Amino acid sequence: MAALPERHPNLFEDVAEVLVTEEQVRAKVAELGQRISADYAGRPLTLVSVLKGSLPFMADLMRAVTIPLQIDLMEVSSYGGTATDSSGLVRILKDLSASIEGKDVLIVEDIIDTGLTLNYLLRYLRGKNPRSIRICALLDKPARRLVDLQIDYVGFTIPDRFVVGYGLDYGEVYRNLPFIGVLKPEVYSHA
Ligand code: 5GP
Repeated sequence: MAALPERHPNLFEDVAEVLVTEEQVRAKVAELGQRISADYAGRPLTLVSVLKGSLPFMADLMRAVTIPLQIDLMEVSSYGGTATDSSGLVRILKDLSASIEGKDVLIVEDIIDTGLTLNYLLRYLRGKNPRSIRICALLDKPARRLVDLQIDYVGFTIPDRFVVGYGLDYGEVYRNLPFIGVLKPEVYSHA
């Protein structure tokens, strides 16, 4: 059995570097909320978020939007990959709970890396005949993109580093860090 990663009891001690601070996230979410409110005014907006990583972003973004909206949640898992690499094979663990036919759908994602997960989701959701479908991602890591995607709303473009916090995990931990950061190398070497 693989050894569990060695973690400091205080998660903050495992962080080597903060890439995006809590304040920067807050300001960006407010800005995205304003843009989305203006762009979708008078339209039947449904935010579809992808668990678990997008949970804090979704919770904050929906409160930064000032027009009526509905939310729905999906959960997908990519399988065949490792803790830090996605395989592109996607399994739906939780599907939408309501129809999106005729709705203006905005997918709320934590991070787009290779783009394979989102590419799969887009094809799946387009098959349900929404009126429109666009993408809002807090983080974009374009260096590793394998598919051509148009991301309509991007929070931050970041370098090719494995990040944790604000919903993003390493081995299911670190999601509750309030900022986006990079872990100390010794945390990975114990995995
Ligand atoms: P993609 O299919 O675009 O390669 O990967 C998308 C998913 O991989 C994200 O929703 C996220 O769950 C995971 N992922 C990609 N990059 C990172 C990263 O830097 N940190 C963490 N924690 N997860 C990532």
